[in-house]
Amino acid sequence: MTSVAAALAAARVKLPASEARLLLGHVLGRPAAWLISHDDEVLDEDALLSFASLVARRAGGEPVAYLVGYREFFGREFAVSPFVLIPRPETELLVDIALKAKVMRSGIHADGAGETAKILDLGTGSGCIAVTLALEFPQARVTAVDASAEALTAARKNAERLGASLRFLQSDWFDQLVGERFDLIVANPPYIAAADPHLAAGDLRHEPEPALASGADGLDAIRRIIAAAPAHMAPGGQLWLEHGYDQAAAVRELLAAAGLSDIEQHRDLAGIVRVSGGRLK
Ligand code: GLN
Repeated sequence: MTSVAAALAAARVKLPASEARLLLGHVLGRPAAWLISHDDEVLDEDALLSFASLVARRAGGEPVAYLVGYREFFGREFAVSPFVLIPRPETELLVDIALKAKVMRSGIHADGAGETAKILDLGTGSGCIAVTLALEFPQARVTAVDASAEALTAARKNAERLGASLRFLQSDWFDQLVGERFDLIVANPPYIAAADPHLAAGDLRHEPEPALASGADGLDAIRRIIAAAPAHMAPGGQLWLEHGYDQAAAVRELLAAAGLSDIEQHRDLAGIVRVSGGRLK
């Protein structure tokens, strides 16, 4: 007879306690907190086998989010699969900034007043950014694009499950958006250098490569997005991008070279300049 406490103790040899609790909670269909108050509960054979298999897969490097099928982002659960990047806490900074962006003429106000604003999320992946913005700004018209059909399917499902209404479009960055302009453009594009050893280590090995890597210096996607953005921004519109820990100076230059003004850069919780943006005058 194996109790919750004993199963968790056995898993501790291979995994941090918090991960073991998440996985066992998933197997039992209970929140991880439930385990703490039920640590003498006896587990049946099926649960033990499922838990052992998840512990082994996690110990082999598969990300917890793929094993349990979701990751929390901005207080909501987003379903994830190996076709999409796992939402990151850094990306919540991008959403925070977008929520504060006052594109006055289009009515993006914290109180929800004003005209309909047009928002675009490039490379939406799980849809975590676009769906969050659509839910936080129900009066805005949000478009989410991705080059991957599988990612769009995942993002659509998240939008449906969370009750967000937005437009999805399969597009390589702006390619299918000819002639369209937006008040707010956001993106968490791939930004890791192709030869970066991190890509071949840890959890990143399991995430979709096109969502992570972008050319020799990691800036290919960012260069394309910034160069094309002004033609898709409404007057006064803003562009905000997440980027790598060592790309702040390069991204600032690219934003300036594209003619954007009021360039701002923000640090993430780790103190790294992680999100940069500018405005079209
Ligand atoms: N926009 C998605 C996210 O932030 C996907 C980003 C990506 O795949 N590079 O999670």
